[in-house]
Amino acid sequence: MQENSFYPPIRTLMGPGPTDVHPKVLQALAMPTIGHLDPQFVTLMDEIKGLLKYAFKTENELTLPISGPGSLGMEACFVNLVEEGDKVIVCQNGVFGTRMADIVRRLKAVPIIVEDPWGRAIDPNKLEAALKKNPDVKFVAMVHAETSTGALSDVKTLTEIAHKYDCLTIVDAVTSLGGSKLLVDEWKLDVVYSGTQKCLSAPPGLSPVTFNQRAVDLIKKRKNITSWFMDMNLVLGYWGEGAKRSYHHTAPVNSLYGLHESLVLLKNEGLENSWKRHERLNSILEKGLKAFGLEYLVPKNERILHMNVVSVPEGQDEAKIRSDLLNNFNLEIGGGLGPLAGKYWRIGLMGYSCRMQNINQVFGALGRFCLNGVNTNFRPEFYLPSQQI
Ligand SMILES: *Cc1c(COP(=O)(O)O)cnc(C)c1O
Repeated sequence: MQENSFYPPIRTLMGPGPTDVHPKVLQALAMPTIGHLDPQFVTLMDEIKGLLKYAFKTENELTLPISGPGSLGMEACFVNLVEEGDKVIVCQNGVFGTRMADIVRRLKAVPIIVEDPWGRAIDPNKLEAALKKNPDVKFVAMVHAETSTGALSDVKTLTEIAHKYDCLTIVDAVTSLGGSKLLVDEWKLDVVYSGTQKCLSAPPGLSPVTFNQRAVDLIKKRKNITSWFMDMNLVLGYWGEGAKRSYHHTAPVNSLYGLHESLVLLKNEGLENSWKRHERLNSILEKGLKAFGLEYLVPKNERILHMNVVSVPEGQDEAKIRSDLLNNFNLEIGGGLGPLAGKYWRIGLMGYSCRMQNINQVFGALGRFCLNGVNTNFRPEFYLPSQQI
């Protein structure tokens, strides 16, 4: 019997990721595969490193995409820096901070949890108190944009505090890179990892990371990095400068074509313009969602503007609505995680998904379920043609 090929439905992706992939990126992914040591591919790798430096706003030499999803980027940062017995402060205000603490424990290091409520930013005072109490802490880990709750933390201030106590920071910028202001060098962040499937709108499966000199010096001194695949000393032999390149693993060639194209699109738009687009379009989405009677979990000044975590209307079956949106409108939005399950939706307007036609799709589809709370003053002046945005 003949097997059938898989043809995915055409969806609009407005959950926590992945996001809609730009047609040019899809086209790049379909280009012919070449050898990963082909000089032309080596040139592509160098270009990707340069474009990532642009996106991260850094001059860090050690800036590259790890061959694996954001979660592998997270693990790679910890496994390269944290040694058995090290004390690590983990700021926890949602799912991803919890995951960081789990990784620290698996490395037989000691996590010290600084906890904030789900839906709030990390409190710098709590971090400072924990550092005062634990003078032997070596690292502080934090999530810039906590996708599980929609909270954006002030990683610049948190890093300043960590540095006062001679700690290095490990920062999760998976959801912020490309969509929210992130200045790796200016904010003096030591180690940062991200992902490709949120505001970069490339397919999932790659994790851009960047390490500053202080972090690199630490890694070079390490003799006992327990992961072979993620050991940056070895990865550098592969991603290092041009001719010296030696085989480490086979890079995901076509995925890197895709990442390259998504970074070209970002650079051509301009990073600051991309941040502005995310802010402007999300403020339109916010007006509509509020007019539908939906309430935001996170106070505005602590919010990831492109991750709208909003309450499910009273008495509605949120899972049923989400499945109706998916099956009848081809629209994907996210449900709540952990304590937010069943009570909140997560509506991402990120990367290539962040465009006016997607907002209109949400208004059209979700409006059907939110009629009770509708503010009758809500008029379609928000439905601007995309050319005006
Ligand atoms: C999505 C996400 C991750 C994990 O990325 P994957 O590509 O799913 O492994 C980590 N941290 C944050 C904040 C995220 O939003």
